[in-house]
Amino acid sequence: MLKKILVANRGEIAVRIIRECQDCGIPAVAVFSEADRNSLHTLIADEAVCIGPGNASGSYLNMDNILQAAMSTGCDGIHPGFGLLSENAEFARKCRENDIKFIGPDGDTISKMGDKSTARQMMMKAGVPVVPGSDGAVKTPEEALKVAERIGYPVLVKASAGGGGRGMRRADSPEELPTAMEQAGMEAAAAFGDGTVYLEKLIINPRHIEVQVLGDQHHNVIHLGERNCSIQRRNQKMLEEAPAFGLQESTRKTLCEAAVAAAKACDYEGAGTVEFVMDDRENFYFIEMNTRIQVEHPVTEMVTGINIVAEQLRIASGAPLRYTQDEIQVKGHAIECRICCEDPLNDFAPCPGKVDFVHFPSGFGTRVESALYSGAEISPYYDSMVAKVIVKGENRIGAVRRMRRVLGETIIRGPKTTQPLQQMILYNRKFLRGNYNTGFIGEELPELTEMIQTAGMIKE
Ligand code: ADP
Repeated sequence: MLKKILVANRGEIAVRIIRECQDCGIPAVAVFSEADRNSLHTLIADEAVCIGPGNASGSYLNMDNILQAAMSTGCDGIHPGFGLLSENAEFARKCRENDIKFIGPDGDTISKMGDKSTARQMMMKAGVPVVPGSDGAVKTPEEALKVAERIGYPVLVKASAGGGGRGMRRADSPEELPTAMEQAGMEAAAAFGDGTVYLEKLIINPRHIEVQVLGDQHHNVIHLGERNCSIQRRNQKMLEEAPAFGLQESTRKTLCEAAVAAAKACDYEGAGTVEFVMDDRENFYFIEMNTRIQVEHPVTEMVTGINIVAEQLRIASGAPLRYTQDEIQVKGHAIECRICCEDPLNDFAPCPGKVDFVHFPSGFGTRVESALYSGAEISPYYDSMVAKVIVKGENRIGAVRRMRRVLGETIIRGPKTTQPLQQMILYNRKFLRGNYNTGFIGEELPELTEMIQTAGMIKE
């Protein structure tokens, strides 16, 4: 096994990984910015190194400072978590050059899968269904118009380097396409330093269904079943479930097989997620692969009993997968709510500030992943997600009931959070029926807002 691991992240995922290292008997080194001196990940790690100022570019994105911290503390592995440097091929390569194991796939796999138009082409070759669209990147509006005419409107202009819902624009007609292209390109160039775009047909209100995969260094790949992550605001997930309710067994099987084929096509190592959009006839299409641990991995852990972060550590240490596909069984139903410090009644505006008091729920089938504590400061520098509340039930309605109880017990006093919205979603008819799609928040927000106001659940 790896002997000492640096966790190149912050917040709840850094806490999750540090705890796992410690549970596996591996010392964990935290890195922290000046704004995170009193953050939980800094406090619970075996050692902690300050790597720069509050703004992420000077600290959590500063590759040299992180590598220096790893070397000076004698680490032989770096876990990047999600976001930040987790899908940065250059960082993975630099780790390797310095004889430090990057816990994830190699730099070349990250590059190929991280460039969405290249990934699309690879998937087409591997026989994985992709959304109808351009064959790789589109360079000029003329080229885009031709593709759009072939696939039909509406289309989605997507940035090859896009992520976090950025670099995506819809065009409903040839008149709108050049502007959509320019805006998506500019947004991506500013956010990711690469303005390359490609075209996909816009699937109207699809479900977002994704499959968790694990691959080892010996070319074995398995899947751990699927998740439905269709409750999104601004193309960003808010609530996830495993398994995806209501899928036909035959669809589930071909979907999971397609995900394994996708991972095999890039000789995948580590934990990864193959994301698809699915229409109402259960046709599914690859949209991207995330070459890292994901926020919503706990729902899969809850229904399979497999500790994905522990498996990442074993795989990175060179061990073969310890499960065959036949040994993976999905039991029960799990739901996760991502609680973000955002105001759901004000267009999800971020609400940083001091958290005066926190009380997290517990009980059977209940799990909380968070770095919050009473008195913690939510910094405006970083992502707004502050806690993940996860439940497991014997079946879906059991999980829904448990989540209602659990969110009812959750207290985060201080900044506004998305918690009241998630509480109301658990009573929404469409959600309860389980046949919701990515249009859910757009369609239901007015009613959910009214429910929150009526219930007087928003803290002033
Ligand atoms: P990002 O990497 O920015 O998260 P994704 O490609 O994963 O971008 O897409 C994010 C979300 O955008 C999806 O979950 C889905 O809701 C929506 N989306 C992406 N591609 C399409 C498409 N072709 N048609 C409809 N919705 C899409």
